[in-house]
Amino acid sequence: MIDKDKIKEAVGMLLDAIGEDASREGLRDTPDRVARMYEEIFAGYDDDASARLSRQFEAEGTGNDSGVVIERDITFYSVCEHHMMPFFGKVHIAYIPDKKIVGLSKLARTVEVFAGRLQVQERLTSQIADAVEKELGAKGVLVVISAEHTCMTMRGVKKPGTQTYTLCSRGVFEKDESLKNSILSLMTK
Ligand SMILES: [Zn+2]
Repeated sequence: MIDKDKIKEAVGMLLDAIGEDASREGLRDTPDRVARMYEEIFAGYDDDASARLSRQFEAEGTGNDSGVVIERDITFYSVCEHHMMPFFGKVHIAYIPDKKIVGLSKLARTVEVFAGRLQVQERLTSQIADAVEKELGAKGVLVVISAEHTCMTMRGVKKPGTQTYTLCSRGVFEKDESLKNSILSLMTK
């Protein structure tokens, strides 16, 4: 649970520490604004991916060949846990259902749950893959994330536009390299 009073106090101290006058007009409401913003961007701590994926449907008329579901270009915003700076980009998810599928918006909601916490991109990728595998009992899951980290592009090496890619595979995608590559080309083309 987010402690907004504590955040307000901490932001006031930060303003002070960087040499600002926290009482001047433009900054007077900043601690309160940041506290309310944190409540929104860290809403993932009070949320649960399994609830988001619980409404499932039967995949129709499949037999053995249940096909692949791909949802591309899910926009996300998260905050890196090393610098508390935003990183953002796209998530692409592919899964092979075992009879159960979910509405496509639920995959986007699942991304939101994990993105709404302090993160590293690698863990964000594997948490999404694990949730889809576990909650849907999917036969295979492939998650690709491309993201720009403002802690890299705004400071340090300062290379704007640099994209970091992470990939996580579960189930059949771990065993079948050619299947994985053919789905990957559909996901990221
Ligand atoms: Zn960082």
